[in-house]
Amino acid sequence: MEWLLERPREHCGVIAIVDAEEASRLTYFGLYSLQHRGQESAGIASTDGKLLKVHKRAGLVSTVFLESEIATLKGSRAVGHVRYSTSKGSHPQHAQPVSRDENLVLSHNGNFATMQRMEKFSEEKGIDTGNCNDTEMMYEILRFQIRRGATLAEAVVESYPLFDGVFAAIAMTKDEVVAFQDPCAIKPLCFGRINGGFAFASESCALNTVGAEFVREVGPGEMIIMDKNGFWEEKIVMGDFKRDSWEFVYFARPDSIMLGRSIYEVRKNFGRILAEEHPTQADFVIPIPKSGIPAAISYSQVAKIPYEELLVKNDYIGRTFIEPSQRVRDLGVQLKLNPIEELLRGKSVVVVDDSIVRGTTSPKIVDLLRKVGVKEVHMRIASSPYRFPDYYGTDTPIQDGLIAARKTIEEIRQSIGADSLGYLSYSGLLQGIGLPEEMLSNSWHNGVYPIPIYERASEIFTPAT
Ligand code: AMP
Repeated sequence: MEWLLERPREHCGVIAIVDAEEASRLTYFGLYSLQHRGQESAGIASTDGKLLKVHKRAGLVSTVFLESEIATLKGSRAVGHVRYSTSKGSHPQHAQPVSRDENLVLSHNGNFATMQRMEKFSEEKGIDTGNCNDTEMMYEILRFQIRRGATLAEAVVESYPLFDGVFAAIAMTKDEVVAFQDPCAIKPLCFGRINGGFAFASESCALNTVGAEFVREVGPGEMIIMDKNGFWEEKIVMGDFKRDSWEFVYFARPDSIMLGRSIYEVRKNFGRILAEEHPTQADFVIPIPKSGIPAAISYSQVAKIPYEELLVKNDYIGRTFIEPSQRVRDLGVQLKLNPIEELLRGKSVVVVDDSIVRGTTSPKIVDLLRKVGVKEVHMRIASSPYRFPDYYGTDTPIQDGLIAARKTIEEIRQSIGADSLGYLSYSGLLQGIGLPEEMLSNSWHNGVYPIPIYERASEIFTPAT
């Protein structure tokens, strides 16, 4: 469940429509399908080969674009972005696509644990990177290479050794589009075909929305180029998929397909395995909407306990840009969830959520249920304990802020006030995803970071077991 007031911050969504009619309008609809990946700002850049125009602003997709603004984004090529700040805070000036001159834009999903390599290069070459976040620094380096006469594709290849963080990115000039991935393809980037043209998006659900046909994912260390020579692909470095498994747990939309796996089915697998690993008796299985729903359905099927949606989510509250007062903050969970008291009173329930990160959400839910007279609350979590910080773009808190890093499972149970607590085992997580462990990055659980985090490694401590 996402929290209105205090919650881990999420990452970004990228999209591009290339060589298709109404590219910016399709990009706009695609951004709606990626809205769950970032709600802070949205933007679209488009080109007709002569001009490159950008419109971006803080806010949700629905508020950032007026019809008249979409109409000004002409041409058959467009690149879009939705953002939640993961680097250098949440200032609107960091909205993407980054565009610092009239011939280059860049949309990026991911994060750099450190920017030392890029900083050193920029310093040596006299590139002004004052107040740049990681994406802007990538942009400045690409721009530097283009100014030296490189094509965009050449600029990406030249700069690639400096890009030692996590990136699923799309860059565009007036006559080239390049989609490129880090050597582990930690973040997703799909490639599809649309009306004779091409489409790229963080998730396949956005390709479905715009009527594009999914072809494949952009692979580790790969770039796909559309320029005056047409469409071509190049492996910049050899790499292997190490997809962030948090995509399967929480980020991705349930109707997306990732590395050939249906997110919805994976989450149902999690619930099934969770029921096998942590069975219990209760009157109802209740999901925390919406991310807990698929796992709760299968938990209920396996446990043979009726599934009921007895915590009703207010879908329209969304994010607010107004700083909440303490009084509003104290309302906490009530702002978003309302329990159906008549059915809950005197009952025992299994509550299924996708995850516990900081552990601020679950105690509020338990409290809410107790207040309406629920007798027993059995908390079931459809992921393994979240013990290590994320440096790849999720921007969860420092490790100390992660409850499973500091407390044992029994201590967590006590602190959230549940009668029992069961997490999905690590082997259950892998089995549920159905991909070999080597294809995944599970750093949030096991502290193994496939893309180096350099000096940040010194921040990490051994979690409580
Ligand atoms: P908490 O344990 O209070 O930090 O919150 C955990 C809740 O946040 C779970 O219900 C998840 O659905 C949700 N969640 C997990 N990861 C994220 C994230 N990166 N951004 C926003 N919400 C998240």
